[in-house]
Amino acid sequence: MFNKFMLEVGREGSVIRELNDFGRQRAKLLGKDSVFDFSIGDPSVPAPSKVQKTLVALAEYPDSVSIHGYTSAQGLGEAREAISRGIQKRFDFSMPPELIYLTCGASAALAISINALCESGDEFILCAPYFTEYPVYVKAAGGVPISVPFAQNFDIDLDSLEAAITPRTKAVIVNSPNNPSGKIYSEALLKKLSSLLMKKGEQLGLQIYIISDEPYRELAYDGATVPYIPAYYENTIVCYSYSKTLSLPGERIGYVAVSPKAHLCEELFYAIQGAGRALGYVCAPAIFQRIVAKCEDETPDLAAYAENRELMYDGLISAGFDCVPPEGAFYLFIKAPDGDSKGLSLRARELGLLIVPGDDFAAAGYCRVAYCVDKDRILRSLPLFKQLRESY
Ligand code: PLP
Repeated sequence: MFNKFMLEVGREGSVIRELNDFGRQRAKLLGKDSVFDFSIGDPSVPAPSKVQKTLVALAEYPDSVSIHGYTSAQGLGEAREAISRGIQKRFDFSMPPELIYLTCGASAALAISINALCESGDEFILCAPYFTEYPVYVKAAGGVPISVPFAQNFDIDLDSLEAAITPRTKAVIVNSPNNPSGKIYSEALLKKLSSLLMKKGEQLGLQIYIISDEPYRELAYDGATVPYIPAYYENTIVCYSYSKTLSLPGERIGYVAVSPKAHLCEELFYAIQGAGRALGYVCAPAIFQRIVAKCEDETPDLAAYAENRELMYDGLISAGFDCVPPEGAFYLFIKAPDGDSKGLSLRARELGLLIVPGDDFAAAGYCRVAYCVDKDRILRSLPLFKQLRESY
């Protein structure tokens, strides 16, 4: 009667949403201080002050007749030009505004990119651990998600990836800095990945794409740099978001950028436009396109996240948890002492600690702790994490 797949996806819901509901109920019953929510990647630092000032100025002194009006489907020229200039400045890479399409965050950017590439039965390789929604977008587009396990320290396992490539492979989705592990893939690894995809593409007579999902690109610690994938691999589509960098997750603004070096890049951009149209994702929020045009070069308050990362990491390690130090994003991925991540999340719940089991990130045995929260919440939670570890 209804679309079976959509019904299933809707009914299933997300673990994070479920944890959130649990937290709300517990707060109602026992008070707000009894809940320590580390379940969601919602930035805890406010948007940069330039964003707030620009927003006020736009509301008070709109620079066009209607700041609320439709923009073109792919977005305002001024926003696409600002993005292009920003990429040139930061990565010395020329990404023409004509190949940029403004979207409702990285979610829409991913859905559009996957739909633009996918013909029924095409395979999309997902490098574990990965964002829970990738398989949903791939299946909805008629594709087949192929999960590849991770190597040590959450690196991409290139041997497994090579073995997963078939004549139906259409793309590999790469996310660095990574949600949920905090891993940043090194330049050396990306060069190897690029050579591998070129070699396999030639052998099989295929164009294999990388979809580079980059919402955490600016969140890197200890001076780490995040290699810009289009500089290493020609067939790249970038999916970007201002949700985390400008702390604007609810405003739904991001973009798709097709590398000008990609095979038939202009045709590919038509397919991006077509997917945007077919999915109903035309004209991203107009006010926030204008914010992007003016604030593209603003950076997040990294110091707050860096301090949280240190506090949380040190606290969890001294509580006895096993965890790889994260290099970027704002997540820590801890090992369940007995290997049962769902069990760990359930035990944590009993203490009011909300952490997400790694199973849906294709990493059973781990739990994700989002440390984009107030420092005070981290400090008050550490004795509970100790108690949690001692319960094993
Ligand atoms: N990709 C990854 C890896 C994410 O972690 C998220 C959100 O948390 C998204 C995509 C979606 O981001 P957006 O809020 O821009 O839709």
